[in-house]
Amino acid sequence: MRTFESFIGNFDGKAWSDDIYDKLISAIRDDRAALPEIAHWILATPGRHFNLLADLIPHLTEAEFAALAEDAVQRLANDEDSDDVRKCIERASLQIPQALRPHLALLGEQDDLYRSAFAWRASDQGGADALAATVAEECEQADCERLMETGNAAAIRRAYERLSPDGRADLAYWALMHDVELVDGEARPLTLGRCHHLQFDTERPSYAKWLDELRSLHPTLRLRSAEDVTGLAGGKTEAPCGLCGGEVAVFLRLREAPPGFAVSARPLTLAVCVACLTDYAGGPIVPLFYDHRSGEPVTLNPTGQQRTPEIRWLPMPVSRMRASPTPPRWEVQDDGLANSRENLHRLGGRPTWVQEADYPNCPTCTRRMPFLAQLSCELPVGPGADSGLNEDGLTYFFWCDACQLSAVTEQYT
Ligand SMILES: [Zn+2]
Ligand SMILES: [Zn+2]
Repeated sequence: MRTFESFIGNFDGKAWSDDIYDKLISAIRDDRAALPEIAHWILATPGRHFNLLADLIPHLTEAEFAALAEDAVQRLANDEDSDDVRKCIERASLQIPQALRPHLALLGEQDDLYRSAFAWRASDQGGADALAATVAEECEQADCERLMETGNAAAIRRAYERLSPDGRADLAYWALMHDVELVDGEARPLTLGRCHHLQFDTERPSYAKWLDELRSLHPTLRLRSAEDVTGLAGGKTEAPCGLCGGEVAVFLRLREAPPGFAVSARPLTLAVCVACLTDYAGGPIVPLFYDHRSGEPVTLNPTGQQRTPEIRWLPMPVSRMRASPTPPRWEVQDDGLANSRENLHRLGGRPTWVQEADYPNCPTCTRRMPFLAQLSCELPVGPGADSGLNEDGLTYFFWCDACQLSAVTEQYT
């Protein structure tokens, strides 16, 4: 029986059979050509399809996904709205904004489409100009967010110059939520270099086999190119934590940042005292700051006070890791939509905020620190061990190159 027929044969109009994820995984592995047909069928067939469409989309080619997104947009326009239609458009806004360019006017009328502002990265000059005029008239959140995502500095400046002081403050706030610092109307992205995905030699398994398999098949965990930069993860820094005396865990050690990064540290070592970062009982210290001037991160402790965290964590064993340049499709990710399936270990590019964007200021020069890297909890740890990083969130690293300082924060659901 063809994969498509065996797939829909499981659907009785109410529920899928228990082995539907096994079938999806074998289709991804052995019959990828069946996936577009299944995806269009899910869009066209009313019913509850759980997360299947979302789990299938990463395995469509960009052209196949663009055709599916077109199908979804037409259904939205024809009042055939459904969860699956929305899931498809939300993911297209993140992964293939260019496919939505002809439909930005239609999407603009849908204020409740999650993350759809990212589709405006594909906006043309006319679209950015029109948005700037709208924002200058009435500084609404959705339009401000879309204007920021156009990345059109001239249009952003034009809107800024026509706004009242209150409007300018609102626009600057929404700029920050979209990883842009707005200073006197000038838009500065809070990024340090091109997005790379970090891949570790081993991954900590989760609890469900099908979820581990879906994750291991995800394109963001299978990146490899001639431009990959290799390094080490694990171990601890020479100096103990200056706040608690415990071990400062190293999560990434590269000879230097990948080419094009505004990061001069050599080596580039990202480390944090997990006990101090996550000591919820004693009140975590966020952000934690590390001085990299000696080449090794050293904890800043401006007050000189010592603390005793309730739990201490063993650093991960030393293993190899790679930083691979991220294809455009995965440059923007969303923690909720990733749903534990995607690789969210990222270096450079924009962060994946779990909550509102929150950029720390450098304690030395007071400037806002751009984003450097983020880690999720799926890291190589010893048997029975745990990295200690928050399982329901992400850990973020920021960098001030002038002062050679890193800052570490976390956000969780
Ligand atoms: Zn500590
Ligand atoms: Zn600084």
